Amino acid sequence: MVRQAPGRPAAPPPQAGGDGLMMTGGDDVKGGAPEVASTLGFPPGPAAAGGPDRNRPGSGVGHAEKGKRGRTGRGRATASPAGEPGANSPDDAGGMREGFPVGAVMVVGGGVGGIQASLELSGLGYRVYLVESSPSIGGVMDMLDKTFPTNECSMCILSPKMVEVASDLNIEVITLADVLSVEGEPGDMSVRLRLRPRYVDVGKCTGCGACSEKCPVRIPDPYNAGLSDTRCIRVPFPQAVPGAAVIEGSACRWLTKGKCGNCVKVCQADAINFQDREREEVYRVGMVIAAPGYRPFDASRKTEYGYG
Ligand code: SF4
Ligand code: SF4
Repeated sequence: MVRQAPGRPAAPPPQAGGDGLMMTGGDDVKGGAPEVASTLGFPPGPAAAGGPDRNRPGSGVGHAEKGKRGRTGRGRATASPAGEPGANSPDDAGGMREGFPVGAVMVVGGGVGGIQASLELSGLGYRVYLVESSPSIGGVMDMLDKTFPTNECSMCILSPKMVEVASDLNIEVITLADVLSVEGEPGDMSVRLRLRPRYVDVGKCTGCGACSEKCPVRIPDPYNAGLSDTRCIRVPFPQAVPGAAVIEGSACRWLTKGKCGNCVKVCQADAINFQDREREEVYRVGMVIAAPGYRPFDASRKTEYGYG
C-alpha cells in the first residue's frame, strides 16, 4: 500500500543536493526547519508571513480550513474554496505530479528531537509522518526524572509537546514501525515501513486500564528499564501518545496458547483485535529526518573515560 500526503505541490523541482536525510541536532531545530523547506524546493511563501498560500504543501488538507496557526506563529495554509482551482483540485486527490516534490516529511524517531522537528514542520505547513518503533512517542526523555544540567522536571518539558503532537492534525503518529528502506531523492522519496501489530484498536481504546487489571501475565516494564513489572497488556505510561493499550504478543496467553482472553471480556470499548497482523506500507514524502536518539551501552568499552 502506498501512502501519499494530500497537498498540491506547485514549486519547481528541488535543486539542492545531498541524500535527503537530515539529522536533528537535539530538541531545538528552529534553525533546521527552514532548511528542510528550502531543500524541498518550497521557498517561504505568504503563509510564512501569516497569510494564506495555497501552493504550500499541506494546503489541500481539509483541516487547514480551520485557519489554525502554527505554534511558531507562522500561519497555517488555507484551503481554497470548493471549485476553485488550487488546493482542492483533482490533482490533490491524485497527489504528486511528475517531477514535483512531495509536500510531506517523514520524521523517524519519536523522541524529543523528532517531536520538536515535527511540530516545527507542521508549523511551516508540512504534512508530517512521525515514525516511532515503540508503542508511544516520547523516547528516553519520558523515562527520566530530571534533565541535565538544569535539573528541570523532564516530563514537564516533554508532556506538553506530546499533547501538542497528538492534537496537531498535520502530524500523523505511526508507532510500532520500523523503516525497511528509503529510496528516491530529495523532493520525491519512498519509505517502506514495517508496521508491527498492537492488537488494540487505537481508535477505540480509551486507555482506561481495565484490561491490565485482569491480565494474569507479568512482563518486565520497558518504561521502567525492566526494573519493575507490568502486564502483558498495558498503556505504556500515563502520558503515552497514543494513549492506547498495547499487547506484548510473544507473552500473551491467547496469542501463544489460545487461552485466557480476560482483556476481551472486560474491554467495554471492544478495542482488542487479535486479528492484527504485521504489514508493510510505503509512504511518499519529500524528505526524511532521522532523529534516532540513543540507547545506553556498556561503558566499559570506553576505557579512555576511566570505565572498565
Ligand atoms: S483495551 Fe479496552 S480495557 Fe484496555 S485500556 Fe483500552 S479501552 Fe480500556
Ligand atoms: S489474552 Fe493476553 S493480553 Fe489479554 S489478559 Fe490474557 S494474557 Fe493478557
